[in-house]
Amino acid sequence: MQHKVTFIPGDGIGPGVANATQRVLEATGVRLQWDTAIIGSQAQDMFGTPLPESALQSIRENTVALKGPVTTPIGSGFRSVNVALRKELDLYACLRPCKTYPGAPTQYKNVDIVVVRENTEDLYSGIEFANDSPEMMKLLEFIIQTTGEKVRRDSAVSLKVISQTASRRIVRFAFEYARQNSRKKVTAVHKANILKFSDGLFLDTARQVGEEYHEIEFTDILLDAACMQLVRKPEQFDVLVLPNFYGDFISDLCAGLVGGLGLAPGANIGDGIAVFEPTHGSAPKYAGKNKANPMAMMLSGVMMLRYLGEKGSADRLEKAIAEVIAEGRNVTYDLKLHPEEAASTSQVADAVIEKLRHGSK
Ligand code: NAD
Repeated sequence: MQHKVTFIPGDGIGPGVANATQRVLEATGVRLQWDTAIIGSQAQDMFGTPLPESALQSIRENTVALKGPVTTPIGSGFRSVNVALRKELDLYACLRPCKTYPGAPTQYKNVDIVVVRENTEDLYSGIEFANDSPEMMKLLEFIIQTTGEKVRRDSAVSLKVISQTASRRIVRFAFEYARQNSRKKVTAVHKANILKFSDGLFLDTARQVGEEYHEIEFTDILLDAACMQLVRKPEQFDVLVLPNFYGDFISDLCAGLVGGLGLAPGANIGDGIAVFEPTHGSAPKYAGKNKANPMAMMLSGVMMLRYLGEKGSADRLEKAIAEVIAEGRNVTYDLKLHPEEAASTSQVADAVIEKLRHGSK
């Protein structure tokens, strides 16, 4: 069966790691038809918008996309096109598995954590009030009238919005993932002791949903304790489910546990639609240098193959990548003790393809 996939190379290191990923995916023998779409500053120059309708339409039609990282200009320019894409397509679940592969540069063994991050609301809902704005002044009045609390007049406010609807569907997603992947435990991470209403709602909802899944253990942990426990004893965690903001940091923390961003794949998933992309960004300083590690994007490709029902090919590709990591010869600078011995992005792809061709041991 042929699969039509929207292919977004991205910018910075994106095109390099995306091309390497395309090559290894094709080497699995799965029949993929690529429909290339451009987003970000290149699209801004070409079409006058960073997120052209043609790109969205392509993903809607194909229902699956493989995406490289896209730069967000700091301060001026458009807001994150990555956030906009997730919102437009309602890709409400961000799935980020973090697993130790033997040979990866980490002191931890047997880490196998899946981070499930809510993708649509929380502090990233984009509802903000600038200081000195008329809206902010109204908000100050409203706060003092309703709570009696005085907020400094020179404040700015960003809203942390947590709904029962979004909490329920992300926690249900985490439990369904656990069920389908024979996982034993789901842990909700929160600060409900301080944020009684927003995180309190997230936690209460998580508890309710947990009652529907008797075979899977449900636990919860405060964010601060989670950070400490993740660094001390990460093997105790299985599936983590978090509101958007905490999920952002915890997924990078977990990537650090298993050897860094070069090994951290991801997916943004909605109902019947999915965009697979690595956790890392466009690392502009390495753009065009053929130096970046393509494995996070290749492992995102492995996730995509599983999503497409190509389990055998996904397993073979993951095994080939794992073998290249274990051998330690054809890996990029971030996985090397002596960076001067590093392989290039394209050499990593060659090595993975070689493993695929000659069969895994
Ligand atoms: P980044 O992930 O791009 O890079 C941080 C550092 O991590 C790099 O300097 C590099 O040392 C290392 N790194 C990242 N990916 C690597 C790889 N594949 N191989 C080897 N080393 C790697 O984070 P940043 O510098 O904060 O962000 C750069 C840009 O990317 C920003 O514009 C940001 O908004 C954007 N971004 C995009 C996405 C996305 O497209 N989904 C995600 C995160 C950041």
